Amino acid sequence: MRFVINNLQLFLDEEESDLSIKIAKETRTEPRFFTYSIIKKSVDSRKGQVSFIYTCLVESPLFLKGRNVRPYKEVEEVKIPASNLDSRPVVVGFGPSGMFAALVLARSGAKPIILERGKKVEEREADVETLKAKGVLDPNSNVCYGEGGAGTFSDGKLHTGVNDPHSKFVLDEFVKHGAKDDILYSATPHIGSDILKHVVVSFREEIIALGGDILFSSCLSGIHTNKGRIDSISYTDEKGTMRKLDCSYLLLALGHSPNETMRALFSSGLKIEPKDFSIGVRIEHLQKDIDISNYHRFASNKKLPPSSYHSVIHLPNGRAVYSFCNCPGGYVVNSSSSLNEVLTNGMSNNARDAINGNSAMLVNVKVDDYFHGSPLDGFEFRNSIERKAFCKDKPYFAPIETLGGFLDNDSQRPLGKIKPSYEPGVYLSSLSSYLPNFISSSLKEAFPQLAKRQSFFADEDALLTGFETRSSSPIRIPRDENGESNILGLYPLGEGASYAGGITSAALDGIKIALKIISK
Ligand SMILES: Cc1cc2nc3c(=O)[nH]c(=O)nc-3n(C[C@H](O)[C@H](O)[C@H](O)COP(=O)(O)OP(=O)(O)OC[C@H]3O[C@@H](n4cnc5c(N)ncnc54)[C@H](O)[C@@H]3O)c2cc1C
Repeated sequence: MRFVINNLQLFLDEEESDLSIKIAKETRTEPRFFTYSIIKKSVDSRKGQVSFIYTCLVESPLFLKGRNVRPYKEVEEVKIPASNLDSRPVVVGFGPSGMFAALVLARSGAKPIILERGKKVEEREADVETLKAKGVLDPNSNVCYGEGGAGTFSDGKLHTGVNDPHSKFVLDEFVKHGAKDDILYSATPHIGSDILKHVVVSFREEIIALGGDILFSSCLSGIHTNKGRIDSISYTDEKGTMRKLDCSYLLLALGHSPNETMRALFSSGLKIEPKDFSIGVRIEHLQKDIDISNYHRFASNKKLPPSSYHSVIHLPNGRAVYSFCNCPGGYVVNSSSSLNEVLTNGMSNNARDAINGNSAMLVNVKVDDYFHGSPLDGFEFRNSIERKAFCKDKPYFAPIETLGGFLDNDSQRPLGKIKPSYEPGVYLSSLSSYLPNFISSSLKEAFPQLAKRQSFFADEDALLTGFETRSSSPIRIPRDENGESNILGLYPLGEGASYAGGITSAALDGIKIALKIISK
């Protein structure tokens, strides 16, 4: 019989092998009567004490009882039916949503055709390095565009607020394609950029082996309809030649960056709605200071992973200021996807062993803040900040300011103990001067309040880097219960269409839409 036992606590001076003693105690049986595996592991650092909390799957011939024991419920498998589609589906975008949709379609036998404007990850990596070293951006091959999408050069955090029975499938597939298996049980699973770049190659290889085609450096430029149904698409291929492709099933997994593609789709009749999103800055602290705040006197214990945080302040002005996409032991990265604009995000490698930890500090932006009549106005709102942040004498350098300088309106205050991780470089500047007042004043109001909760927020040397403008999409593409947009046969999915917010939820949305199409 199989059981789940939760709340099994191990202190830092105990070993994982001690779990059998804890299980025996909890169930009042001897270890020889059961075997177990870990299905969840988290760190509990509340009340000045630090311990690991485990959930274990236990198998025993006995009926086990205990306060934290419950029968194991089998996880629903993803059942992929054989496809009987009358033509090959086309997936545009090979980020997590497009990748998982393509994987499911390929396993169903549908032989998807995938269009990705960026390059294969091997070439893409070289382009990202060129941007960091020389300040030269390839607008089709960068941190946002290319194989694996925006998720490739990321922290690879996989936790999601979405409660979906297919989550296990996503984690299993990542492991099958090369991620470490600790993501299967960590409460805060993360893959890391250094591993992700191999994982996406493995996805590519499986999809191609199953008869799929992936056309890199191929950018969707238009859609064509017939009687309200998708009929064909136009795209430019890797040689810059305009091509047309017949298409009855179009999965749009574009991510939230391609303004010009969204404009083309909107002008062809695709219904798009404006939505709230968020804008802010990246903040960097010394990771050891974050650890001291979270782990107290245990901060230097080697068993503990670099710690993370999540903070929210609700202000009287109706805005929320919140941390987002925390990257412990990581780097602030340039994630521009168009020429002459600067924006940031965060990434880390699997070991999360960089000196700084960073996080976005965001303020919510409401539709009323930017709407002038077009559902695409949000793109211009964020682009105007990104363009201002671009300095032509220092291409793709980012404006930075210390927290102390930001709060005291002293933008030239010299850097203290925290060195910026952003490449190709930074320049001191008043970040408030780039931002609408409601964003900078909300940040200024929130930081002192955050400092009362977590000591590292009181560090005036903390570095603010401008600007985090693309934490979510400024539009939503409505779809019906079949997953279709107002144009039949066109399925919007993933983060760009606002059905996901992160790698795992984007992957889940890809699975959901692919299953809908092949189950038709
Ligand atoms: C640096 C960074 C770090 C991040 N860290 C994390 C993290 O740790 N955890 C997390 O959950 N999320 C993270 N995110 C967010 C996460 O990457 C996204 O939520 C996720 O990638 C969205 O998946 P998607 O498939 O919807 O879109 P995307 O991943 O954005 O993929 C869209 C793809 O479409 C392609 N495309 C766009 N337009 C066209 C066109 N016209 N023709 C052809 N192809 C096109 C793009 O090149 C891109 O590859 C991070 C993002 C960045 C940039």
